[in-house]
Amino acid sequence: MAPIPKSMSGILIEETGGVDQLHWKTDLPVPELKDGEVLIRNEFIGVNYIDTYFRTGLYKSTLPFITGKEGAGVVLASSSPSFSEGDRVGYVADRAYAELTAAPAANVVHLPDGVPTEQGAAALLQGLTALTFIREAAGITASVLGVGEAPWTLVHAAAGGTGSLLVQMLSAFGARVIGTAGTDEKCEKARKGGAQWVVNNRTEDVKARVMEITGGRGVDVIFDGVGKATFDLDLEVVALKGTLIVFGNASGPVDPVNILRLGAKNVKLLRPMLFGYVATPEDWDKYTKELFDLIQTGKVNIGVHNVYDLKDVGKAHEDLEGSKTTGKLLLKV
Ligand code: NDP
Repeated sequence: MAPIPKSMSGILIEETGGVDQLHWKTDLPVPELKDGEVLIRNEFIGVNYIDTYFRTGLYKSTLPFITGKEGAGVVLASSSPSFSEGDRVGYVADRAYAELTAAPAANVVHLPDGVPTEQGAAALLQGLTALTFIREAAGITASVLGVGEAPWTLVHAAAGGTGSLLVQMLSAFGARVIGTAGTDEKCEKARKGGAQWVVNNRTEDVKARVMEITGGRGVDVIFDGVGKATFDLDLEVVALKGTLIVFGNASGPVDPVNILRLGAKNVKLLRPMLFGYVATPEDWDKYTKELFDLIQTGKVNIGVHNVYDLKDVGKAHEDLEGSKTTGKLLLKV
């Protein structure tokens, strides 16, 4: 067995706040390997919007803490029979912003040959979010498609990390996809990803365009990771009996909602978290397999915006929060 170092480098948050609270440290304790865990030497770490919520304190964690929710690399030690030293793996688990992460084996997956480690780190959290929200929250399964009219769907931030994967998957599954994005360049990316219609939310009237595109009907399913800024619009453009899936707070958390508002169109409103859809080993196995199949068959392409050094994570957060990015942001260890 390769020796396990006594200390490691990583990013520690001692107080919540701005990007200046992301402190690079070289003497952090190496996590202790508990029963059923896998100790992974990270090569790439995925940056996700949720990391900014923990940094700012919108989502709570006990201080001090290491944030970060996904990564990929090589197994250094394992107390699970499913993984061995040297295996190339990806995972979704806490404390990813570090050289080494101990992840529960139930949230670790072997990376298939043909999926580079960088792609593994880029694909998992946002890919599983897009896939499970389509399958479980929206109920769009292969069997639903081909039965009657293809559903109308609306994806906000359609060139973003999660949004670009939602667009590609919905389009691959046969849905009609309208994407919104903040610049013409982002709209073009969403169009290339498979959105048949795109709306620039800074220069166009999104409500008028969506109603025009759908012939006044509205959309059957809305995937909204923007949150506060788009929630009222969503209720205006959702179709009768439509489904509104609000899954993020990029513009801030949605204000408390009077549920009587849902009655106007019998709207189904969901506020899901990925972790609830991959909570069992069976779900984790099923959805990681389907995600890698989509990647390996070329139906889904994981676009990487930029790879930053782990030390420069503050810049990555600034770019993400400043709407300057498309696709996935990665950290290199
Ligand atoms: P993105 O790559 O989508 O980046 C965020 C995008 O949101 C921006 O590029 C921007 O796109 C748009 N945006 C709109 N308003 C704002 C604003 N005021 N400030 C910043 N950005 C804004 O990020 P992710 O893919 O990492 O995450 C997208 C959303 O999905 C987040 O809200 C995240 O929390 C959520 N999420 C939720 C999960 C869950 O389990 N519930 C799991 C994974 C992600 P544009 O310029 O085109 O408007």
